[in-house]
Amino acid sequence: MSDKPIFDPVEWKLTEFQAQLNNKARTLASEKFAPRAAAYDRAARFPTENYIDLHKENLLGVCIPTAHGGSGADLKTYMLMAAEIGRYCGATALTFNMHVSSCLWTSVLADQLELPADTKSALETSRALHYQRIIDNGAIYAQPFSEGGAAAAGKKAFGTTALKTDGGWIVNGTKIFASLSGHANYYGALCTEIEKPDAALSRRNTMYIAVPADADGVSVSGEWDPLGMRGTVSRTLKFTNVFVPENAQLMPRGVYFQAAKQWPHMFMTLTPSYMGIAQAAYDFTVSYLRGEVPNTPPIKRRMYPTKQIAVAQMHIMLEQTKALWFQSISEACPNPSKQSIIRAWSAQYSVMENANEIAQLAIRTCGGQAMLRSLPLERLYRDSRCGALMLPWTAELCLDMIGKAALYNEGESDEDTEH
Ligand SMILES: Cc1cc2nc3c(=O)[nH]c(=O)nc-3n(C[C@H](O)[C@H](O)[C@H](O)COP(=O)(O)OP(=O)(O)OC[C@H]3O[C@@H](n4cnc5c(N)ncnc54)[C@H](O)[C@@H]3O)c2cc1C
Repeated sequence: MSDKPIFDPVEWKLTEFQAQLNNKARTLASEKFAPRAAAYDRAARFPTENYIDLHKENLLGVCIPTAHGGSGADLKTYMLMAAEIGRYCGATALTFNMHVSSCLWTSVLADQLELPADTKSALETSRALHYQRIIDNGAIYAQPFSEGGAAAAGKKAFGTTALKTDGGWIVNGTKIFASLSGHANYYGALCTEIEKPDAALSRRNTMYIAVPADADGVSVSGEWDPLGMRGTVSRTLKFTNVFVPENAQLMPRGVYFQAAKQWPHMFMTLTPSYMGIAQAAYDFTVSYLRGEVPNTPPIKRRMYPTKQIAVAQMHIMLEQTKALWFQSISEACPNPSKQSIIRAWSAQYSVMENANEIAQLAIRTCGGQAMLRSLPLERLYRDSRCGALMLPWTAELCLDMIGKAALYNEGESDEDTEH
């Protein structure tokens, strides 16, 4: 394995644990995932074999606390290692993120919230069950939040409902773009708890429930033939009167709502896949212009000044993106300052948009022979376009939030202003 780390451990002052984990992820992804990536993409097929490897390497439990048998990685440590995976297979990194998020919400994030003792003890009991399934059986969790309305953007209660019944809940609703659909063992779904079928929905009653994929009433439908991130298999997931028992709760009621409000950096977990893609598009370009890409003629193209300028522009954009992203994931904490949240939105926007910009510059600079399907660049280009679309922090919503936050202080409005 010859690729250098995206974040050099010495230069970026990584801990030994972070450096080791990154090394492990890079070795696995470059040796095993990279050679399989084209086939998953071509067939829009879920990377099942990669998940078997992730389990073998004990990486499915990377964010599970060590007391529960996991590696105990925190948010930053996870983000750094996930970027190394995204470099070699974007779809694996993005789906892995959905799985790992079920552990992050329930461990690092929840552990830093101020919770009453009985809630803490209920959380300990509920998460132990989920962690055990992951560590012992290699269970895979999905994270189907999106419903096609404003709920996934955090503006409205989820339309998927959990009606209280004896011994558990009856879940009904539809989730769109549910990555890992048909392949996860559990769907970590956000839904709104209700006491009667026609009750009003409130965001305060958000529940985070692990619906077993084989439960009666769970179905997957719709085609999956998208532009990019094809291996994520993000089809439509329907819950029709699905009974889930009490122990299906991933976190006690109310905890997700609190965690989502207090931990905005959590929504940056969609970025590492695209940070990795940006690095990969840059690396490919350098390698191609040096005449070093395997299975291509060893023709050097690096001597043309226009190509040198393009590579310089890509390099600057990559360094800017890395620096902002690294700062943002380094300062992630509960209840961050306003400046820190604005920086997180800026980092999210920069990773998602710059990954695509670097990929498109790579195609233009390398030229026609480099965009053939036998090479990874065109896949990186297609995959990179998907990042900006991902709720709750799409590129558009980031712009919207940054502009408003920069111009208005808490509680300010223009109602009394004369124009
Ligand atoms: C490859 C891929 C994998 C995905 N995997 C998952 C997954 O596993 N789980 C999951 O929950 N979701 C997943 N998603 C879904 C994703 O997060 C979005 O929910 C989905 O792309 C939204 O679709 P849309 O653009 O039709 O949304 P729409 O709601 O139609 O939004 C369109 C655009 O309008 C803007 N917009 C939306 N709401 C507002 C608002 N309130 N105010 C202002 N502007 C707004 C946003 O910029 C948004 O991009 C995935 C998406 C992709 C592309």
